[in-house]
Amino acid sequence: MENYQKPVCDCGAELLFEVEEVEVVTYKILNNGWFAKRASEKKERSRNNYGHLTCKTCLNQYDYNFTFSGPHKSKLVRGAKID
Ligand SMILES: [Zn+2]
Repeated sequence: MENYQKPVCDCGAELLFEVEEVEVVTYKILNNGWFAKRASEKKERSRNNYGHLTCKTCLNQYDYNFTFSGPHKSKLVRGAKID
């Protein structure tokens, strides 16, 4: 069985998964009219977009996909380069 190969950049560096995440946070309003420094409630974070793969060495970005079948099903693979 072949080993899974982590996605790498054209420059040879390992790629990172980058995605925009949002966090909904609620604050109590204080008597002085400001809102509290500490959140009283944090809701679960969610992803704002699909994300992409990024290289911290040369700043290239790539789409990504998951393998659909085989012994390494559902693993990240590199897609087309994003210009
Ligand atoms: Zn690179």
